[in-house]
Amino acid sequence: MRCRFAPAPTGYLHVGGARTALFNWLFARHHGGNFILRVEDTDEKRSTEEAIGFLIGSLKWLGIEWDEGPDVGGPFGPYRQTERLNHYEDVVERLLGEERAYFCYCTPEELEDRRRAALKRGQTPGYDGRCRHLTPTERRAFEVEGRPRAVRFAMPGVDIIVRDLIRGEAHFPASDLGDFVIMRSDGTPTYLLAAAVDDVLMEMTHVIRGEDLLPSTPRQLEIIRAMGAEPPAYAHLPLIVGPDRQPLSKRHGSVAVEWFREEGYLPEALVNYLALLGYHDLLRPRGAGGQIRPRSRVP
Ligand code: GLU
Repeated sequence: MRCRFAPAPTGYLHVGGARTALFNWLFARHHGGNFILRVEDTDEKRSTEEAIGFLIGSLKWLGIEWDEGPDVGGPFGPYRQTERLNHYEDVVERLLGEERAYFCYCTPEELEDRRRAALKRGQTPGYDGRCRHLTPTERRAFEVEGRPRAVRFAMPGVDIIVRDLIRGEAHFPASDLGDFVIMRSDGTPTYLLAAAVDDVLMEMTHVIRGEDLLPSTPRQLEIIRAMGAEPPAYAHLPLIVGPDRQPLSKRHGSVAVEWFREEGYLPEALVNYLALLGYHDLLRPRGAGGQIRPRSRVP
């Protein structure tokens, strides 16, 4: 059993991220499996060395330990995505060769115009697949023009069902699953590609992550299937929300693990709180058949 915490190092460790890391770690330890820390730093504009330091420092402070990671190495390394670019390039080349991916020459302005037009027509904006069907002549014309080209994944155009260990089945209609960019025109991989490729190459058996990433899952499932690999099991954790039921963010106050540390909170207290958050229903008294009793009204 192998599971991972795969943060993008763009700031402090959010308590929601800490909870994801904690659940992965507990799950791995419970099953005698391995827990891996993978740094997803391919967004070079937003990732910083300082943030990697905060991440590692905060996780260690919480007492979460990983068996493989950028600082300790391991058999599936390197564990920083910017050091794994060759793997993503290999996969993209293969997908291009098998026509599961294609070059897209659309400019950001053109995409934006079409997005606006689709919204105006009351349609869901999404890539219209235009460059998927270019003739060789059209393609050559774009190349001669020197247009930058991104690589898009060719989705199968069918509805996709994600089987999630927590949520059950989630249905995604084909109309919401347009062809998406897997490699930007500057040659860097997108998150959708890099995480899927690494989950395969690092032999992850379980992907436990925040519910905000559920829309990525049908796309990553398709990349993994196109690689001819067996997808991992997925579990999407409900997000931590504030009193207004909105995802907990800076608007609600301090959300960085580092802040709790500076304020003198004990790591055990934070871990305990995060571990039990969301257990409310499980802790409520159960009826004879084990079913949860209806909530009694608080006067
Ligand atoms: N790097 C992603 C993020 O920080 C998470 C990746 C994943 O768990 O698949 O949002």
